[in-house]
Amino acid sequence: MRIVQKYGGTSVGSYDRIRNVANRVKALYDEGNEVAVVVSAMSGMTNKLLGMAKEMSDNPSEREMDVLVSTGEQQSIALLTIALHELGIPAVSVTGRQAGVTTKGSNTRARIQDIDPTYMNKILSEGKVVVAAGFQGLNEEGEIQTLGRGGSDLSAIALAHAVGADLCQILTDVNGVYTSDPRVVKNAQKMDEISYDELLELASVGTKVMQSRSVEFAKKFGVPFEVRSSLNNEPGTLVIEEKPSMESVVIRGVSIERNQARVTVTGIPDEPGWSGKILKALGESEVNIDMIVSNIANDGFARHSFTMNSDDLGRAQAALKTILADLAGGQIETEAGIAKLSCVGIGMRSHSGVAATMFDALGEAGINIGMISTSEIKISVTVEEAEIEKAAQVVHDAFELGA
Ligand code: ADP
Ligand code: ASP
Ligand code: MG
Repeated sequence: MRIVQKYGGTSVGSYDRIRNVANRVKALYDEGNEVAVVVSAMSGMTNKLLGMAKEMSDNPSEREMDVLVSTGEQQSIALLTIALHELGIPAVSVTGRQAGVTTKGSNTRARIQDIDPTYMNKILSEGKVVVAAGFQGLNEEGEIQTLGRGGSDLSAIALAHAVGADLCQILTDVNGVYTSDPRVVKNAQKMDEISYDELLELASVGTKVMQSRSVEFAKKFGVPFEVRSSLNNEPGTLVIEEKPSMESVVIRGVSIERNQARVTVTGIPDEPGWSGKILKALGESEVNIDMIVSNIANDGFARHSFTMNSDDLGRAQAALKTILADLAGGQIETEAGIAKLSCVGIGMRSHSGVAATMFDALGEAGINIGMISTSEIKISVTVEEAEIEKAAQVVHDAFELGA
């Protein structure tokens, strides 16, 4: 079999952990498999590198940030390859460029455009293990680019697709995808399987076990993969195309996203064009808007509220101030320290009363709901950040997801 395995930061977080990975790879190799391994930087390394750039400038160039942070993965590939050599396994490390990963888009959050697997295929066909750097590639101008936080997941899925792997495994520090973050909701259960759509929704609202873009890629190209632990041999979670039996489960998982903020703009004239103007200004300032709630105009004036990551709050305020500068009575109100709680499940399409159950559970626990948004398979609410863990637990209990 041709197998692609990805080991995340914690799984290569120390010399012993790297040796553990080497032993696991050796076991697969000794069984006669062709193995390509994608690795992340050692845990904490990417943040450390980001901090180093901030020592030089409050606003370092994104191009140079990518040159710097991509070195984290390069340390890991070399160290793992050396550890494999110690075990007598022929292995070759490859950077993103050597792995043939072409990227496009903005630095620090680039997308994968294409992968030319020629060199990796050559190494594999010589009976050697490929150890590839996750998170990085080269754009058409020849610049190093990184794929956004958690981007090694995307590298692994895309590489698995490019080399035609029979199996893609994401090895991490938990046993699979759980009904909620097992570090927060103690009785969360590991799922045996989950559909691409459900994991995609969960990942896009804070379930960081997989980067959401990696799940999007897997769905688009039909790459089935498995999430499992790098520390034991327990069966993990299989991520696959949706099947009819999956609809019987109403809520698959509960996700939390911290560090959110709300901006409310009041005193907006009830005239066509204003919503567009506001959103355009936010978009041009690269503010990523999440939830949007607009109130019906009162006395000829409307109010719009948006949520975003707290890191974007400053930029959002600056952008909106320019818009409101020539608008008498327009005001901006902000609230930081909020978090988002989301329930996800494809069963929502065919079951009613899901929102009522969720809101009741929060109400009974005395937790106030801020904003609400829904999609076909997701309901999200904002709550005070200090209450998010309790909120996750009571909602998880209300849907009887616990063990
Ligand atoms: P890696 O370094 O392997 O990429 P991450 O830290 O990115 O690992 O993702 C694994 C973490 O995701 C777990 O340690 C867990 O705390 C967190 N997590 C959040 N939600 C879930 C969930 N529903 N199921 C499993 N893990 C989750
Ligand atoms: N090292 C990168 C990060 O910390 C990529 C990854 O771990 O997937 O985000
Ligand atoms: Mg990760």
